[in-house]
Amino acid sequence: MIRVAVAGAAGRMGRLIVKNVVEDEELQLAQAFDIREIGRDAGELAGAGKTDVRITDAAEMESKLEADILVDFTTANAAVENIRIAANKGVKLVVGTTGFNEEQKRKIEEYCKAVPAVISPNFSVGVNVFWKLLEKASELLSNYDVEIMEMHHRFKKDAPSGTAVKAAELIKSVIGEREIVTGRSGECLRKDEIGVFAIRGGDVVGEHTVFFIGMGERVEITHRAWSRQAFAKGAIRAVKWIANVSKPGIYGMADVLGL
Ligand code: NAP
Repeated sequence: MIRVAVAGAAGRMGRLIVKNVVEDEELQLAQAFDIREIGRDAGELAGAGKTDVRITDAAEMESKLEADILVDFTTANAAVENIRIAANKGVKLVVGTTGFNEEQKRKIEEYCKAVPAVISPNFSVGVNVFWKLLEKASELLSNYDVEIMEMHHRFKKDAPSGTAVKAAELIKSVIGEREIVTGRSGECLRKDEIGVFAIRGGDVVGEHTVFFIGMGERVEITHRAWSRQAFAKGAIRAVKWIANVSKPGIYGMADVLGL
């Protein structure tokens, strides 16, 4: 049995991860951490029945974390600290949290020299294929203007989404240096840039469209997620994959899926 700890266990994604872990016979829910719902049964909170694993205050993670793998769906600041703690203890990582700045990314890279970690802004199989399609389209339409639009629920804390940022970076890596511009207003004649626009509202799980716009035509590539289970299933796949990896370092979902 692979012993899994979940950070952010009271959140939208964390609850779903708890449920998937509880319902999987290869996995054991070892611990659950959050800064709210402390003391609640993590399984009951996730709608997976009683588990006797209570939500532990994340402030105590340094002394209490004991698992094979820590799955983190929290916030950028929290995740950096959780990754530091897990790496120090030799606990492998699956991190879905998004919104890291450059300094945070640098720290994460440093910490993950000690343990294997799958870190991906999107664990769904569909989005990983979407990223591949974008690479191909960027090769074929490298002189077209590129714009990205993403739409998420009203509670999302970061913008633009990690999935959109990764899409922009992938496209840049194929078509060459272009500035990433988040939103436009005032005098802003289009330059060599990729515009990224974030729409927030209601309960939208996650939608991304990349526009390749030429003179007289455009190509649009869209991914729509309407259930968080698409992300949770991928994260569980990453848990089982990383359990068999011993070489420290950061891996992506493309490694897990063999894309
Ligand atoms: P959420 O519902 O806000 O859940 C995050 C949970 O983490 C909240 O309960 C939050 O408490 C808690 N938390 C804050 N600091 C913590 C700490 N130090 N230790 C443990 N828990 C802590 O958000 P969500 O919708 O589940 O999303 C979580 C993250 O995953 C976001 O960055 C989101 O963009 C990302 N995400 C990634 C994927 C993917 O496939 N990679 C898919 C969906 C979402 P408070 O609310 O009190 O702060």
